[in-house]
Amino acid sequence: MPGTPEREHRPECCCGSTAFERQESYSRYMGLDASPWGIVRCCNCGLVTRTPSLFASAPAVPPATRSRLRRPAEWSGGSACVPPRLLERLAEARRCVPKASVLDVGAGTGAFLIAAREQGWEVTGTELNPQSATALKVHGIPLLTTELEQAPFADGTFGLVHMHHVLEHTRSPLAVLRAAHRILMPGGFLVVEVPNELRSLASVTKRFLRSREDSETTGLEHEWFFAPASLSRVLRDAGFEHARVETPYLPVAGRRVRSVLSLVASKVAAGDVIVAWARKQAG
Ligand SMILES: [Zn+2]
Repeated sequence: MPGTPEREHRPECCCGSTAFERQESYSRYMGLDASPWGIVRCCNCGLVTRTPSLFASAPAVPPATRSRLRRPAEWSGGSACVPPRLLERLAEARRCVPKASVLDVGAGTGAFLIAAREQGWEVTGTELNPQSATALKVHGIPLLTTELEQAPFADGTFGLVHMHHVLEHTRSPLAVLRAAHRILMPGGFLVVEVPNELRSLASVTKRFLRSREDSETTGLEHEWFFAPASLSRVLRDAGFEHARVETPYLPVAGRRVRSVLSLVASKVAAGDVIVAWARKQAG
């Protein structure tokens, strides 16, 4: 029917809904516009995901797209040096958490946790990649090689739970965030950073120009595509009382250009990444 969004049904969203609306423009941009592939939005919680799921046995991308797919890049927290904004994040967290103990979910090669330990934090990591896990062990960082939902941490263990470009890869963001809420101390903080793939200035511009060059090498490894509103909603559903959500712009450019772009992009929620600070209710 004209004007009625086509509804697609997947087995289930992490919120329990099975009703989805197809996102035509984003499906085209990702090169996932041929049936059965596509990008869809949950009619209940607003999260955007893909069909078929990366966790399904069906091929995640069409053959033509698969041939152009690069190996996924390691998340920036896994690189040898820690981006300055993560050091600033640690310093800010130190001022507001009830205890300087941090769990880094998807700790990569451990650069973030090594920096945190040097600043006096008690550090723990989870990491599913065996090579990264080995590197973390070399540095003497306590590590679990399980998904967060299965990790046997006691309730209220950590002052800070950190997830840097991890949530978009998970099977169920809601289950992961609920687990993070459980293991945080009352008054503790969860800090989440995910790509702003739907709303960033770069993404909107490329979709307007119908360029697929970048999208194929980034978003195709992602199961979920967040916007500030949908990330806020899933954090609330996981039990967090309040989330501060920002969309900073992270260009490689001069300081003055960067600060102006960052200000403009954050005003219109069009920065490159979404960063949320979510607090677990105190006592
Ligand atoms: Zn949903």
